[in-house]
Amino acid sequence: MTLLSIENVSKSFGQNEVIHGLNLQIQEGEFVSILGPSGSGKSTIFNLIGGLLTPEEGTIHLQNKIINGQRGSVSYMPQTPSLLPWRTILQNVVLGQELRGTTNIEKAQEMIHKAGLGEYIHSYPHELSGGMKQRVAFIRALLSPQPIILLDEPFSALDELTRLSMQKWLLNIWESNKRTVLFVTHNIEEALFLSDRILILSQRPASVISDLKVPFDRPRNEELVLEDQFLE
Ligand code: ADP
Ligand code: MG
Repeated sequence: MTLLSIENVSKSFGQNEVIHGLNLQIQEGEFVSILGPSGSGKSTIFNLIGGLLTPEEGTIHLQNKIINGQRGSVSYMPQTPSLLPWRTILQNVVLGQELRGTTNIEKAQEMIHKAGLGEYIHSYPHELSGGMKQRVAFIRALLSPQPIILLDEPFSALDELTRLSMQKWLLNIWESNKRTVLFVTHNIEEALFLSDRILILSQRPASVISDLKVPFDRPRNEELVLEDQFLE
C-alpha cells in the first residue's frame, strides 16, 4: 500500500528552483534512503513532507490525505535537531508522544538506556555532547507515533563505532515494529547497509534520477544493547 505520495512537487527560494516536478511513492513498511550531493535539496524535500515548507506546485499525500504545509503528520528528525533546554532528556524524548497524547514513559526509559544514555536520563541538554544530543533526537523520532519517520543524516555527528551500533539498532526497530523509514544520507555504504530502496537525486533542481532496489540481505533481528563505555 502506498503510504506517502509526492506528485509533481516544485519548490523555489526566490530565483533558486531547488525541487522541480518531483514524483515519489513510498510503500508501507519500506526503508528508503535518499542520496544526493550536498545542496541538492534533500533537506528541502523533508521540510516539504514535514510541512515546514509548502510547495508552489504539486501535492503531498499521506494515507490518501493531502498534507501540503501541514506540520506533525510525520515523525521528523531534522538535520540539526533541537532539544528544549529547560526539559530533561527524558522529558525531551517523550515530547513527540505528549503532543499526540500517547506518552509511554517506560518505553522511553528503556530506549534511553538502550542508546547508552541511562546515566543522563534526568540531565539537561547542555550537559550532553553533540553526538549524545543527536541520539536523544533520534529516540524521540522513533517513539513518535506517526506512520512514517523521516531521518535527515541522523548519524552524521557520531564516531564510527557508535554509528554502527545506532544503524543496527534502527534496523532492529524497523524490523520488529514494521515502521516506514525515509532516510537521508550522503554516505553510499550507509544507504546500502540500511535500505530496501535507494533514490538518487539529480543536481538542482532535484528530481529522482535513479530508483534502485537493494539486492542484498541485511543483518536482521540482532538484539542490541549499547554499553555506555563503548560510546563517545
Ligand atoms: P541538502 O540537504 O541536499 O544538502 P538543502 O535542501 O538543504 O540541500 O538545500 C538545497 C538548496 O536550497 C540550497 O541551495 C540551499 O541554499 C537552498 N535552501 C534551503 N533552504 C532554504 C531556505 N529556507 N531559504 C533559502 N534557500 C534555502
Ligand atoms: Mg541537508
